[in-house]
Amino acid sequence: MSLSDFPRHSLTFGPSPVHPLKRLSEHLGGAQIWAKREDCNSGLAFGGNKTRKLEYLVPDALAQGATHLVTIGGIQSNHTRQVAAVAASLGLKARLVQESWVDWPDAVNDRVGNILLSRIMGADIELVEAGFGIGFKESWENALEQIRSEGGVPYAIPAGASDHPLGGLGFANWADEVQAQEEALGVFFDTIVVCSVTGSTHAGMIAGFAGQDRPRRVLGIDASAKIDETRAQVEKIARNTAALIGLSRDLRDDELTVLEGWAGDYYGIPVQSTLDAIRLTGSLEGVILDPVYEGKSMAALIDLVRTAEIPRTSTVLYAHLGGQPALNAYSALFK
Ligand SMILES: *Cc1c(COP(=O)(O)O)cnc(C)c1O
Repeated sequence: MSLSDFPRHSLTFGPSPVHPLKRLSEHLGGAQIWAKREDCNSGLAFGGNKTRKLEYLVPDALAQGATHLVTIGGIQSNHTRQVAAVAASLGLKARLVQESWVDWPDAVNDRVGNILLSRIMGADIELVEAGFGIGFKESWENALEQIRSEGGVPYAIPAGASDHPLGGLGFANWADEVQAQEEALGVFFDTIVVCSVTGSTHAGMIAGFAGQDRPRRVLGIDASAKIDETRAQVEKIARNTAALIGLSRDLRDDELTVLEGWAGDYYGIPVQSTLDAIRLTGSLEGVILDPVYEGKSMAALIDLVRTAEIPRTSTVLYAHLGGQPALNAYSALFK
């Protein structure tokens, strides 16, 4: 099997844009920094990295005759919002289990941003009190059972579409897309920086780039503040995805790099470096980052360039995975 053997249901505009961040590069005084923009990859409710993953899950859901896409996430989950958009565009129902993964006091946290968009798109939303976790949940099982008992066919999509056999394929494909864009642009990105939480974005990239065998580092930046879980998840999904797309060798340890140090103490709670990165990128580039994911991976990129752990001669590709709608629940930070 190779990646092209898997059916892909187009949900994106095509290859996502790649462009240099010239003023940020100049400001940091080295390393040429570029961005690849999953935050504007689709016309479906602002898109994002989950939309790209779902391109490979949708054919499976349709083949099974699904009537409902069922998934789970935090209150301000970007993933559940993207599932709601994809369901709407396919004429399916979305059933979203939304848990309080983040202890965030914003008064309109459960009203604005992602959850607002999901409501507009007609998703059936259940708010549940529960802690942060990646695994399958009781509330989720109940949702599946309820749909079945009403004669529907639920298609279960785990948190972040990660712990799913096809979850890594979207970003394995991203790696091929990067290679084609490099050829067209005449550049080579020796370092990729990507935020990692449920893991299949980073893991898919690892599997995809492994087949290219070029001297390239794919640096995952943990934003879950649970580094061991993130590492385990990335390694498992990267190996599964590599096997699925026919990589004929095992992944090397140096290909499985998840860095910690920018997540702060909690998933979903920004720290000073997150806010600094958001303000710097916004004011220098007009590019908007969120406080849950991309602000943390950009804080890492900035530090790694400043300390020359990413050498000044490097050409870096920052994977912008989306997530801006959540900013609406964090307005107090930017008064
Ligand atoms: C989900 C998400 C991530 C993390 O991707 P995973 O595949 O869960 O590791 C990063 N950034 C944004 C904006 C996301 O929505």
